[in-house]
Amino acid sequence: MEICNSQPHIGVLALQGDFEAHLKTLASLGVEGTAIRLPEQLIQIDGIIIPGGESTTIGKLMVKYHLQEVLLQKIQEGVPVWGTCAGLILLARETDNALAGQPLLASMNIRVRRNAFGSQRESFETDLSVPVLGEAPFHAVFIRGPQIEYAGPGVEVLATLDDDTIVAVREGTMLGTAFHPEVSGDPRFHQYFLRIVQSVNR
Ligand code: GLN
Repeated sequence: MEICNSQPHIGVLALQGDFEAHLKTLASLGVEGTAIRLPEQLIQIDGIIIPGGESTTIGKLMVKYHLQEVLLQKIQEGVPVWGTCAGLILLARETDNALAGQPLLASMNIRVRRNAFGSQRESFETDLSVPVLGEAPFHAVFIRGPQIEYAGPGVEVLATLDDDTIVAVREGTMLGTAFHPEVSGDPRFHQYFLRIVQSVNR
């Protein structure tokens, strides 16, 4: 993919979860991401990825390390953000079974249900049609992922399962996937996010 002008500075929240896999996928695209653990690391960042893991743990650490406010400020300023799985839960304005007081970023106009795939389908893989990525299906890996139960006005549905369950959304510069594109060996979602980042940094 062509990266215009200078390299975008992508920060991957690295408090818990599979942030390494995101950094590797970015590196495969020639983009050196920054593992974010401190608020000051966000100052120069053009785009933020919040990885999968355990949303309650990431949320608690985000508060402990004083990252919640800075992240919210960046999102409100329009810095593109992409949440995968637990990251998507943190971005959702509503989570139906969140633990009381679970710290969230609550920015996207969606409602998610955590661990929504019953035990048999807790983890599964499937080929998804994702028109914004082109014709070839995207191999999606779900690991105890959430379902997006409601997508409000302004939210574009990017992909659904066969039963119409929403699993990928975009709202302006915010992107959310209920699955893990960083482990499927297909960089198209990362390229799509980098295009969003470039479109606001032009
Ligand atoms: N079930 C986890 C949560 O509720 C998300 C799982 C994941 O990110 N793979 O946070």
